[in-house]
Amino acid sequence: MTPVPADGRIVIVGGSIAAATAARSLRNRGHAGQVTLISSEDHPPYARPPLSKAVLTGTDVPESAYLPELEGVELLLGVPAVGLDSAARTVALADGREVGYDGLVIATGARARTLPGGGDRVYTLRDLGDAQELGQLMRQGARLLVVGGGPLGMEVASVGRELGTEVTLVSDTPPMEALLGAHLSGLLVEAATAAGVEIIRQPVSELQQDQAGRPVAVLHDGRRVDGDVAFVAIGCQPNVEWLAGSGLAAGPRGLEVDEYLRVAPGIVAAGDVVAFPAESGCRRTPYWQSAFDQAVTAVEVLLGSGDAPHLPRPYFWTEQFGHHVKLVGSVVGDDAPEEVPAAAGTVLRWRNSDGAPVGAAGIDCPLSITKLRKLLASA
Ligand SMILES: Cc1cc2nc3c(=O)[nH]c(=O)nc-3n(C[C@H](O)[C@H](O)[C@H](O)COP(=O)(O)OP(=O)(O)OC[C@H]3O[C@@H](n4cnc5c(N)ncnc54)[C@H](O)[C@@H]3O)c2cc1C
Repeated sequence: MTPVPADGRIVIVGGSIAAATAARSLRNRGHAGQVTLISSEDHPPYARPPLSKAVLTGTDVPESAYLPELEGVELLLGVPAVGLDSAARTVALADGREVGYDGLVIATGARARTLPGGGDRVYTLRDLGDAQELGQLMRQGARLLVVGGGPLGMEVASVGRELGTEVTLVSDTPPMEALLGAHLSGLLVEAATAAGVEIIRQPVSELQQDQAGRPVAVLHDGRRVDGDVAFVAIGCQPNVEWLAGSGLAAGPRGLEVDEYLRVAPGIVAAGDVVAFPAESGCRRTPYWQSAFDQAVTAVEVLLGSGDAPHLPRPYFWTEQFGHHVKLVGSVVGDDAPEEVPAAAGTVLRWRNSDGAPVGAAGIDCPLSITKLRKLLASA
């Protein structure tokens, strides 16, 4: 890719960690040209992880999620990009404006997937408004029906119990198992159950509404489970619709990039929107650290200051039911991890069939990501 000239205009479309990191990296690398960040949200770029944690409990005010201010960056807020002409190098905005660029970073992330039906008391959680609304309902004591046993479903269930709400969680697989493996899933399910969450292991066939307007989950085995409100946490889908007709390889599985995060001449992408090449085809890794790391690489590639392909270094954390879990690398199937001696908390390590370490987790322990990563290198 021909590098963007030192005084070239770089446009970033997106309003969260990938976009903000790209903007900051451009300035840190001394890029002298104009940098414009376009976000469909009215808020300045903010972090999403607190939305299912301290912002949801109400412990922290919404503004505490704002990312550090971006100096020397033009912010166009509350105006979605609706089209891209990659030949003319222009981004079309919903208000009719066209913004030209020399280099473009696509960081439009993802939005919550949901289920049809269930009426108007079915919620998802993706932005600050969602967190405020859901938090308020839980603080008012609304009985919560959670659909989905991934990190978001479990974190919201945890906050619900913290706020004294009755919580039933329905999940087709053991909660957290897909991400953290059977061992840690067991630990977190035990903690959730001890905290008073009723966990039902069943797929949800559909959402309906009862006569009082309450959402009801109809389970695969025919059972019906209701709540005053339902919270659906069944993953996220990439925001790629605005790229329709642009000729870029964007679809329901994300925006395809190469291993340098390049999309087309003058265009790179980062974050939850990205489908990155993997052995099994292009895959999204919709986690915070991945969005951050990709944004840093994408900017290096755009400026021509880096020539190495992006190296994914998986890291994920979650806070739920009194536990703080950090994972670097990945867990292996159902294999029991080995325990690594630690000064505080628990540290676990997984090995593949060749005995090579592939994942390390810290549970309620202050070990930094760097130190956890060293456990993978030094075993
Ligand atoms: C509630 C919650 C809690 C989470 N907790 C954790 C956690 O504990 N640990 C972890 O690792 N990960 C967590 N995640 C995931 C993590 O937050 C995401 O991976 C990260 O936000 C991805 O950043 P992103 O910038 O790629 O995309 P997003 O955060 O999705 O941001 C995309 C931005 O682009 C904007 N946008 C979209 N379309 C357009 C358009 N057409 N024009 C202009 N702007 C547009 C959106 O409005 C949004 O501002 C959590 C996510 C959520 C929702």
